[in-house]
Amino acid sequence: MKLFKENRQSVITILAISMSFFQLTGQSVLPESRHYKLEKLAEGVYAAIHNDYGGYAICNAGIIDLGDKTIITDPFMSPSAARDLKQHAEALTGRPVSMVLNLDPHSDHTRGNQVFFPDADIIGTVNARRIIEDTFQSTVDDDKLTAPAELEKITEQLKEVSGDERAELMMWYGYHKAKIESFEELKMVPPNITITDTMVIYGSERSLIVFATGIGHTAGDMVAYLPEESIIFMGDLLFNERHPYMGDGDPESWRNTLNKIVLLKPETAVPGHGPVGDINSIHSLIEYIEILTDMVEQEIEKGAVEKKIVELPVPEKFENWLFGQFYQSSLQTLYRKLKEKAR
Ligand SMILES: [Zn+2]
Repeated sequence: MKLFKENRQSVITILAISMSFFQLTGQSVLPESRHYKLEKLAEGVYAAIHNDYGGYAICNAGIIDLGDKTIITDPFMSPSAARDLKQHAEALTGRPVSMVLNLDPHSDHTRGNQVFFPDADIIGTVNARRIIEDTFQSTVDDDKLTAPAELEKITEQLKEVSGDERAELMMWYGYHKAKIESFEELKMVPPNITITDTMVIYGSERSLIVFATGIGHTAGDMVAYLPEESIIFMGDLLFNERHPYMGDGDPESWRNTLNKIVLLKPETAVPGHGPVGDINSIHSLIEYIEILTDMVEQEIEKGAVEKKIVELPVPEKFENWLFGQFYQSSLQTLYRKLKEKAR
């Protein structure tokens, strides 16, 4: 009986503390996952930002409540992280997820599809479906060969590094670990609904505009835009404070797409990787593409070869960006594209 009284007292204390927290912040505490952190962007709109310190999400996702439909963008690389996302989306919106948007066909954005399908429709561009169908199995086979050795190498390196270098390595540690732990259950689930242009999903509370943006980061990119809230989910068309991966896309066309998105004047831009950004984050990436393009063009004029060009130092402005390993690959892509164009 005494125990009961004490317990009751502590429950009342906890309730009082959480009530005052609720009053202070004006919002309830969001559910937590070890794979990502939820951020409320507007009433019924959330970003799930990958936890760089060993999380398995890898990319960022979105949860959008249209009032009568719950929509997810980019359901992560690992099915286990996607299961947390599904649970959280359902808890936050009070209904099952009805649609999943694949803003980028790469495996880090689409391997979570299998957790939502067939209850939810998977929507992507025609090219995204083709890319997933063409590359899913070969990517999994390749990952099975390389991920264990990569994880071992990183585990060793982690013993000796600190600061930014450690932060970078921790992200890749999670990346390979997530892959290895998911191999057994992976199933290919490409979009079952495809678009080639623009699609509007009309909800009872808000509408979502989905644009297929042509070749940029890949040949199958889309963005999802909430005009009233001025929020845009950009998949990997936006890397925020991280070097972008350009190897499967077209930097010039990517930059043109970003310039068009800037015209929408979005107040909030959710990137595929990195923290939630805004219009300045988009400007930074445009600048990145422009500066690197100029650098490579100048070197080509001087007659430099590819081997020399990929050794160019990172411009000071972007020195603190993570994903440093994509920098050389960006220079290489730019070199090849510019050479091709000159022919
Ligand atoms: Zn990505």
